[in-house]
Amino acid sequence: ATPVAIMVGTGKGAQFGILYKSAEALETAHTIDTVVLDKTGTLTQGRPAVTDVLAQAPFTEAELLQTAAALEKPSEHPLAQAVLQYAKEQGVSIQEAEEFEAVPGRGVRAKLSGEVFSAGNAAFMHECGADISTLEQQAQALAEAGKTPLYFAKGSRSLGMIAAADPVKPTSKAAVRALRHMGLSVVMLTGDNRRTAEAIRTELGIDRAVAEVLPQDKEREVRSLQEAGHKVAMVGDGINDAPALTRSDVGLAIGAGTDIAIASADIVLMKSDLLDAVTAIELSRAVIRNVK
Ligand code: ADP
Ligand code: MG
Repeated sequence: ATPVAIMVGTGKGAQFGILYKSAEALETAHTIDTVVLDKTGTLTQGRPAVTDVLAQAPFTEAELLQTAAALEKPSEHPLAQAVLQYAKEQGVSIQEAEEFEAVPGRGVRAKLSGEVFSAGNAAFMHECGADISTLEQQAQALAEAGKTPLYFAKGSRSLGMIAAADPVKPTSKAAVRALRHMGLSVVMLTGDNRRTAEAIRTELGIDRAVAEVLPQDKEREVRSLQEAGHKVAMVGDGINDAPALTRSDVGLAIGAGTDIAIASADIVLMKSDLLDAVTAIELSRAVIRNVK
């Protein structure tokens, strides 16, 4: 594109709060055929809230909540914040955990009064040797409703389950529809479990969901799409998204996202609205069309 076309495109972008960090970002965006979207914080609000608490006998709901709050207190994960917030609302007094350990993409482990407890997804419970088979049917129903089930265990004994829901942002569905109308293939990437991911994929009309992706593996998903010949745009907000944003042909960061995501992106969506990702690509197409 000519310098004038670039200048006009950059200026138009600015009007929408779309920051192109370079002329190359504006020029490359029209070549992409696949858009990879992070789920939490990009398609969803990133602020989950507790919806269900299911204690497993002989444990009571109060015991489950007290344990969950103590375990999750040192964690920075949004799901941990949801549990903590809920426990506070229920007036639970929160014990101090010892030897706290976070296992990325899986859960947390800590000692309470000298005993080992764990919290996390089904895979993590299996790793901890906890039998969650009696909860799995209910967990499946919750996941099919788009909620994320979290399991809690005392040693190898299951204490129960807490589900949290992270509402989708108001414009996510319209943005996905617009991207698909532009002929782009839309993929969602998430660390969340398959069933929950599938529920959200269906709700938003996304072509494909890749679930249970470990934080360090998001970049590899983008790379494998590129190796299959695709030109990939990645949209993300989190620390975990930074390597994938760098790897992608065009990285777009949600303005309200983490500093590292913003630093790793080629385009920043200042209003944190996914519809602006659509506009960012349309503007690039317009700039290139005007040149030809
Ligand atoms: P995402 O950001 O997409 O939720 P993560 O990789 O951060 O993905 O987490 C993947 C899964 O690991 C979560 O859906 C949850 O089941 C489990 N998990 C991670 N951290 C915690 C935690 N602090 N407490 C309970 N479960 C957790
Ligand atoms: Mg995110």
